[in-house]
Amino acid sequence: MIFLDAAATTPVRREVIEAMFPFLTNQFGNPSSHHELGEQAASALAGARTQAAAVLGCHPGELTFTSGGTEADNLALKGIALAGRAADPCRTRIVISSIEHPAIAESADYLRRVHGFTVDMVPVGADGLVDTAGFVRLLAGDVAVASVMYANNEVGTVQDIPALASAARGLGVPFHTDAVQAAGWLDLDVQRLGVDALALSGHKLGAPKGVGLLYLRAGVPCEPLVHGGGQERGTRSGTENVAFAVALATALSLTEAGRDAAAGQATALRDGFIDQVLARVPGAQLTGHRTRRLPSVASFCFPGTSGESVLLELERRDIVCSSGSACAAGSDEPSAVLTAMGYARGVAQTALRFSFGAETTQAQLATAAQELEAAMGRIKRLRA
Ligand code: PLP
Repeated sequence: MIFLDAAATTPVRREVIEAMFPFLTNQFGNPSSHHELGEQAASALAGARTQAAAVLGCHPGELTFTSGGTEADNLALKGIALAGRAADPCRTRIVISSIEHPAIAESADYLRRVHGFTVDMVPVGADGLVDTAGFVRLLAGDVAVASVMYANNEVGTVQDIPALASAARGLGVPFHTDAVQAAGWLDLDVQRLGVDALALSGHKLGAPKGVGLLYLRAGVPCEPLVHGGGQERGTRSGTENVAFAVALATALSLTEAGRDAAAGQATALRDGFIDQVLARVPGAQLTGHRTRRLPSVASFCFPGTSGESVLLELERRDIVCSSGSACAAGSDEPSAVLTAMGYARGVAQTALRFSFGAETTQAQLATAAQELEAAMGRIKRLRA
């Protein structure tokens, strides 16, 4: 099988399993317990936090382990908005981009429906890039929080986060970025990015599903969403998942160490694959920005086909990819990301995303491009 769906998830790395194993077995303590077993767990958790902080260039106390990217995004958007409005009742607006993952878009909608915030969406161009001037215009006024994703999960477009964060900071608006897709490939240094909050997820990086991380700049107020025993400095109660925290920190460090080499290699593979697909499949359209895109994502529309039927045809040929994001898969609705980028509904329904991991090879991609051409030919013959 050729797995080209790494943006949906990745296998757990062996080194990660080895690092987390002791905390699932003989060192199984609760970090809040005042005995040796508990202290071992607390020190492993502190070690994981320090290790992750070294990658993000922040203080360990600015990190909160969560159950995944979705929870980290929810905590950032809801927590900062609610705390901001509690401190200043005029702060009743939220600004997000029109192509956010549902973890942000639905959190914003919840804040609108249940808490009466106003949500403004900054549009993107046909390449998925946020209109910076439009973003700055929307920030004028009483904004409690702004959030723009670092890299899009469907088309891979990478935003200019330092520019957007600096505009928000200049206007005193807390700025969050969803870095879930970016984390495997792009710079995560929160000082260079200039963000106030950043979310990432373990399972895109070779750690298990069900663990994530939220960076929250010291001094940015954030209302907790989960109340209880006050773990994670009160930001997120509940007995900490020590093994998964260790797993995430290990995966982050390993990713960081190999990032530049992996990104360079993937970019070359990606560009070669894009060229082959455009040459082999008449009418194929690359979606997302041509160069400002994740090294690991090649996404297309194939007008006149159906994304789902091409996906199934490719799977018969042992090529696994995605007809959009995993979250939207199985729904007949065209991708909200592509429609926000200006694609007609019928064209948006023909989207396919190929996303690579560090182990993807040129030979696999050549086979995938060849099989894609053959799959298109078969679909046409069946239709005729
Ligand atoms: N944000 C983005 C951009 C994603 O791609 C995903 C998952 O695909 C998430 C958030 C949610 O992360 P998780 O699956 O860890 O909840």
